[in-house]
Amino acid sequence: MLIGLDIGGTKIEGVLLKSSTLDLIEKIRVETPKTHYQDFLAAVEGVIDSLSQQGEVLSIGIGCCGSVDSETSLMKGANIQYLNGEAFLSDLEKRYPVPVEISNDANCLAISEFKTGAARAANDSCAAIIIGTGCGGGIIANGGIIEGRNGLGGEIGHNPLPHFSEEKDGQPVQCYCGSMNCIESFVSGTGFERTYALKHSPLKAVEIFKNAEQGDEAARAHIEHYCDQLARVMGSIVNVIDPEVFVLGGGLSNQDVIYPIVQEKLAQYTFTKSVNTRVVKAENGDSSGVIGAAMLPLIKQKIKI
Ligand SMILES: [Zn+2]
Repeated sequence: MLIGLDIGGTKIEGVLLKSSTLDLIEKIRVETPKTHYQDFLAAVEGVIDSLSQQGEVLSIGIGCCGSVDSETSLMKGANIQYLNGEAFLSDLEKRYPVPVEISNDANCLAISEFKTGAARAANDSCAAIIIGTGCGGGIIANGGIIEGRNGLGGEIGHNPLPHFSEEKDGQPVQCYCGSMNCIESFVSGTGFERTYALKHSPLKAVEIFKNAEQGDEAARAHIEHYCDQLARVMGSIVNVIDPEVFVLGGGLSNQDVIYPIVQEKLAQYTFTKSVNTRVVKAENGDSSGVIGAAMLPLIKQKIKI
């Protein structure tokens, strides 16, 4: 059996999957402790121990914010602040004598969709992009996840928006990361609302999509422009790794209207101006993170089941 955990700022979700079929056997959800690492570690171990009672566990995969520093093995860049500087992975490896892996939510989405979701027909590559509160990416190439030398593989959200111009995209904007015109500032759900508010008045993303459906020209033009920005991002990814398929996850990915527009615009932003790469919606929904996490050790350590 495989254990997967999806750790967020408010909850820790754990699943137990059957190794042979990846069927769900059990699911647990507990609150994420608010202040101390030791409480957090005890909560995580509590979930793992509870799931382990069902039988032999083959591996443990964890989807979590931040990354494990390749030199110090300590957590860094986590927005659960008390995790930074802690030896989370080593602490779990000491306690559990099975392969343990940690990765971020976008990588877990990519793995989940590649193995059992919208990209399962792909031979050995896909790129997953989360367009939610933020914008993250996960890249599968040659059948493996690209974590990278610094744990930054797939972090497309903090590259500059390709072909940015003030005329098309508005005033330059500084990202919280310190860089200018980050992709996340435009193509995340937050970015989608930010750029609409600059041109018109503040509205929630779902309202903008609803208005467009009802014939509102300003909303329709904003969506069209948003899809153009997304196509520019994908075109630049095609020119680097040329994935077989793009899978979109996160809140805005539920808006079906964006797919044909992005698909139609993608080719013009690639080197050859002619590609047949598909752009599809994630299929595993809210469970993507935790299912992808359970499969992390299979992908990263090439464990056979
Ligand atoms: Zn940034």
